[in-house]
Amino acid sequence: HELAEVLGAEVGASRAAVDAGFAEHARQIGQTGVTVRPKLFIACGISGQIQHTAGMDQSSMIISINTDPEAPINRIADYAITGDVNDVIPKMIKYYKQNSK
Ligand SMILES: Cc1cc2nc3c(=O)[nH]c(=O)nc-3n(C[C@H](O)[C@H](O)[C@H](O)COP(=O)(O)OP(=O)(O)OC[C@H]3O[C@@H](n4cnc5c(N)ncnc54)[C@H](O)[C@@H]3O)c2cc1C
Repeated sequence: HELAEVLGAEVGASRAAVDAGFAEHARQIGQTGVTVRPKLFIACGISGQIQHTAGMDQSSMIISINTDPEAPINRIADYAITGDVNDVIPKMIKYYKQNSK
């Protein structure tokens, strides 16, 4: 949510995240959720199952952040960051704040 705020973005979620109570169903992306096609999609800890990617694979640019370099999401990502979201996202927020006007 904090990264989305600094970027002026919206937060979407996988069904796993919705089921775990991290997000409301209206934010679920995929086969049983909504389809999105943003200029930039940042997949944070998303494995990349077909039921999810069906709702976002037409995004203009996809960046994935995943601890598993073999995660299926990386096959459709333009950039894949191998790492823990808890480490990577705070760095992205810091860098963006430092480098944007
Ligand atoms: C009929 C049907 C309909 C479905 N509809 C949808 C739908 O509409 N939308 C949807 O999303 N899913 C849907 N699903 C579920 C889908 O198959 C997947 O189970 C779901 O998308 C997985 O969500 P996930 O990637 O968040 O979780 P997981 O599959 O559990 O993957 C978690 C990923 O995060 C990575 N990870 C874990 N910890 C970290 C960390 N600290 N930092 C970085 N990476 C980390 C792991 O390596 C893994 O790749 C549907 C399934 C069925 C059967």
